[in-house]
Amino acid sequence: MSSEKKLPDKTFSYTTGQVIAAFGRQYSVETAAGEILLCVTRGKKTGIACGDQVEFQSTTSGQGVIERIKARSTLLYRSDAFKEKIIAANVTQIIIVVAAVPSFSEELINRCLVAAESQRIQVLIVLNKADLTEETLAAAATLSLYQELGYSLIQLSAKKDITALLPYLDGHLSVLAGQSGMGKSTLINTLIPEAKRSTAAISVALDSGCHTTTYSHLYHLDANSHIIDSPGIQAFGLNHIKRENLAWGFDEFHPYIGQCKFNNCRHTSEPGCALILAVKEGKISKQRFAFYHKLLC
Ligand code: GDP
Ligand code: ZN
Repeated sequence: MSSEKKLPDKTFSYTTGQVIAAFGRQYSVETAAGEILLCVTRGKKTGIACGDQVEFQSTTSGQGVIERIKARSTLLYRSDAFKEKIIAANVTQIIIVVAAVPSFSEELINRCLVAAESQRIQVLIVLNKADLTEETLAAAATLSLYQELGYSLIQLSAKKDITALLPYLDGHLSVLAGQSGMGKSTLINTLIPEAKRSTAAISVALDSGCHTTTYSHLYHLDANSHIIDSPGIQAFGLNHIKRENLAWGFDEFHPYIGQCKFNNCRHTSEPGCALILAVKEGKISKQRFAFYHKLLC
């Protein structure tokens, strides 16, 4: 009887919602009914990302306090040498945007692929600026390696026509990744013309006009398809992946992992290394193996 009484009444007033924008320590949370509340966390709790499902308690009208983050299916990190930050939660697809001009970094592609594999997230590579036909031809040849590995690759021109992308978005919570200049903003603006408007709305809500480039936002494309625009995803720090697990981030390495002579093989120069043998036999590309070694350092 007494334990029943102790149940905090407020438990019953928790509402579930999804974080659709994260800026600093404030979050826009959307309920199933479509209501959007500006929420903060209790105390100094951070570590909430766009895409998170949370339980919150309403305070004054239109505001709330996030009490709990629900279990995530996936979690993407951005990290540099100094800090680790989460960028997006529950993402099911990473769309890597590249273009022939300016030239793109294959290292970033490989980093994205490792990040995606470690969370079992699907990958789509979009070769943008396909209207630059000659340059695009050469870029497509470079990218054929990733197609051969089984990753989907499409070409489009974000400025002209993005219909080739639409079927790939179906049923996914996607996130765009890519270096600056590849055309991510152009793509988002073509896909979601109202994106600019909601950016402005949030800046007004924060009483400041200078938050427009530093926050992530989740947009609904239809009932089952959503996309997160996180302007900062230009590098996928992989500090959170243990070195001994790094090889698992390379899908084509999988059949050889565990086949080396030494259990703790790092696949660098060890005798009896199954991966080194696979490279010699042409079953693993030298280039991908070199990226693995680069990331291992
Ligand atoms: P972001 O830094 O990845 O967000 O890239 P932006 O969307 O700002 O685009 C960078 C530059 O590429 C801009 O000058 C765009 O006009 C240009 N751009 C974007 N998409 C296309 C495209 O499909 N074709 C061409 N030729 N240029 C594009
Ligand atoms: Zn080995």
